[in-house]
Amino acid sequence: MKDDLNVSINEIFYSIQGEAKNSGKPTVFVRTSGCPFNCSYCDTEYAFSEGKKVKISEIISTIKQYKTNYITVTGGEPLVQKNIINLLDSLVKNFFNVSIETSGLIDISKIPKEVEIVMDVKTPSSNEDNNNIKNNLSIIKKTDVVKFVIGTKQDYEWSKKIIKENNLIDFKNIFFSPTHDLLSPSDMADWILRDNLNVTLQIQLHKYIWGNERGR
Ligand code: SF4
Repeated sequence: MKDDLNVSINEIFYSIQGEAKNSGKPTVFVRTSGCPFNCSYCDTEYAFSEGKKVKISEIISTIKQYKTNYITVTGGEPLVQKNIINLLDSLVKNFFNVSIETSGLIDISKIPKEVEIVMDVKTPSSNEDNNNIKNNLSIIKKTDVVKFVIGTKQDYEWSKKIIKENNLIDFKNIFFSPTHDLLSPSDMADWILRDNLNVTLQIQLHKYIWGNERGR
């Protein structure tokens, strides 16, 4: 097929979505390889270099073997892939319910509108906060998800400031996720309740079920 382009894939696997709006749903994950960033809490460094080029038609055929409509494209950082928009378009055309997990460190403007964006805003403890692309917060759809991974009280206060400065206060899908093993969810729950903050406290469900087991 003339337009059957390649995407560099680390793994395709079937699991339970552990985050955001579709948490708990059986989902096929398409993990692309490569990421130019270096977040302190990264748990997918194995995806930085391991991977092989796979044709988009082959990715779609693999996905179709599973009996779910939920597909999450993740990484690494999927937006560094040259043909990622072609893959997303193809998934949409095949009537999948598609989400993409991205770092917030790369422009999101070319992502098809049918795809739900789950965007991290990198907090200070990630050590990548200076690389956040500010415009991403102006163009993200209200139906998308904005996520803050929070490791310290400083991260928490910083995230509140970002929400205010970018007028995200009315967004329904703002998730605060305590960094696994760094911040106690009960501490963060206390802070959210004390501040009457309109955000969702998110525990990473897959880590609760399987720890850091790969392919989960
Ligand atoms: S952007 Fe994502 S994949 Fe890249 S280093 Fe940060 S957490 Fe890891």
